Amino acid sequence: MLAGFSYQGKPRAITRATATEAPMTTTHAGLRAIVTAGAGGIGRAIAEAFADADARVHICDVDLAGLDTVSREHPGIGTSVADVSEPDQVDGRFEEAIAALGGLDVLVNNAGIAGPTAPVEEVTPEEWSRTMAVNIDGQFYCARRAVPHLKAAGGGAIVNIASTAGLLGYPLRAPYATSKWAVIGLTKTLAMELGGHGIRVNAICPGPVAGARMEKIAAAEARAKGVSAQEVRDGYVAQLSLQRFIEAREIAETVLFLCGPSGRSISGQALGVDGHTETLRT
Ligand code: NAD
Repeated sequence: MLAGFSYQGKPRAITRATATEAPMTTTHAGLRAIVTAGAGGIGRAIAEAFADADARVHICDVDLAGLDTVSREHPGIGTSVADVSEPDQVDGRFEEAIAALGGLDVLVNNAGIAGPTAPVEEVTPEEWSRTMAVNIDGQFYCARRAVPHLKAAGGGAIVNIASTAGLLGYPLRAPYATSKWAVIGLTKTLAMELGGHGIRVNAICPGPVAGARMEKIAAAEARAKGVSAQEVRDGYVAQLSLQRFIEAREIAETVLFLCGPSGRSISGQALGVDGHTETLRT
């Protein structure tokens, strides 16, 4: 399903600029971008930031109502129903979306689920597999479809959303942490493989982002530990040097920085946007 297209403007080759010729601006006008899981949370903030910067944006998600809301509020953002863990859905929807965008300059692999909060001996194989399927298989399925188009465009950028759980161990979150370490492995490998084509590949590692997802995670951790959700939330804040939650908009701003001319020499990085996470042990 494709809906709500009103793409305008000429694509600009800003991601292809060399270190010496790129202007020091942050313009993204005309960039053609796909953001996975863009109907809510961080993905929606990223899609809106690209749209605000006059990029052409297409999002996919499994949440039909969320996609409809984005279409209504941002008629310029294209939408598709696609589960990133299903390669057939990714293949079909990506080809349609890229045809509608007229090519591709940016892929933001944002989709990711929290997975279970439980001691490892209580995690079921199904929970483990589902977390891997969405969080890492999905990024691979999307990247393999995007890369030929990024090469055809003469270069571009991939941003994989990881987590500070991809940099540190995270007790009671084994599937999630493992999947996010894999995201960083994929990022560094693709950066090496694709750098010669002018394609930059980076990961962003958000800290706890204020919103519905962190509330659910805090509630699940509170149940697993037999403490209150407020104690868990206070514990998250205490883990961070900056002592506060992160805003989705801050992740979006970093994505735009990495995909614009100011990020032209940045690749292979796993960048914390997290207030500096000192530990994930509470
Ligand atoms: P969220 O739980 O708010 O979900 C955002 C969107 O993902 C929803 O619209 C949902 O429908 C969609 N989605 C879920 N499964 C999907 C699938 N299989 N295919 C397509 N869409 C799917 O998540 P969020 O907080 O916005 O997180 C976005 C990314 O940031 C994830 O990769 C997450 O792991 C990472 N992250 C989030 C936080 C945080 O505090 N929220 C911290 C670190 C990392």
